[in-house]
Amino acid sequence: MGQLHLNKVTKSFGDIKVIKGVTLDIQDGEFVVFVGPSGCGKSTLLRIIAGLDDATTGDIVIDGAKVNDLAPVNRGIAMVFQSYALYPHMTVFENIAFPLRVEKMPEAELTAKVEAVAKVLQLDQRLQQKPGALSGGQRQRVAIGRAIVREPKIFLFDEPLSNLDAALRADMRIELTKMHHDLAATMIYVTHDQIEAMTMADRIVVLNGGFVSQVGKPLELYHKPQNKFVAGFIGNPK
Ligand code: ADP
Ligand code: MG
Repeated sequence: MGQLHLNKVTKSFGDIKVIKGVTLDIQDGEFVVFVGPSGCGKSTLLRIIAGLDDATTGDIVIDGAKVNDLAPVNRGIAMVFQSYALYPHMTVFENIAFPLRVEKMPEAELTAKVEAVAKVLQLDQRLQQKPGALSGGQRQRVAIGRAIVREPKIFLFDEPLSNLDAALRADMRIELTKMHHDLAATMIYVTHDQIEAMTMADRIVVLNGGFVSQVGKPLELYHKPQNKFVAGFIGNPK
């Protein structure tokens, strides 16, 4: 399961309210993309969902349990950031295995998990190499591997492809969509790239200034933007 409910979530930093009341239901297995201009609160909202930061008011419920009642390791959430820090001195295998070593998983089980993840991400031929020998796209896949090896039920991606060149981004869009399909996990994906949003999302959430401006399927937003902001951002500009 990986059902997520946000109820009137707000977040203030000092006197400045950056998330102004977000209510949203995300179904198990959905691929939801958050789009919006820089500074609209996308990363803040993800961090709150991940439990890296607390909401000022409002509730977040995962599969019926309030996140505040769950220890971060029990939330079943993994987050992949834009800047994916791999350990340069460790092999691909050890980079992916790292979260399992922290859990002290027995060696045989750990090896089986890492190999399964490497296969999904087409890294099975790279396991003994160091990150320095890999392309940008392969390194990003190692970072994703490290996130998925603990088998989270919800994945949060914060602009994971924005450091890659256009050709690699196109490949990774296809790979991530395939991975979503294979893992049947819930994914929330933040981007400011309209193409990523339109091609990957089951539903798009358009954020503007700390509010949800519109939620809908890509083509609904494209053809029926509810306001000028959405029209300008992804709508059909006629
Ligand atoms: P986005 O990811 O959409 O670009 P962010 O969520 O990073 O936006 O930021 C939303 C707003 O909150 C911005 O105005 C940013 O400056 C502010 N903000 C984010 N984190 C902090 C923080 N830790 N302290 C103060 N202000 C912050
Ligand atoms: Mg951000």
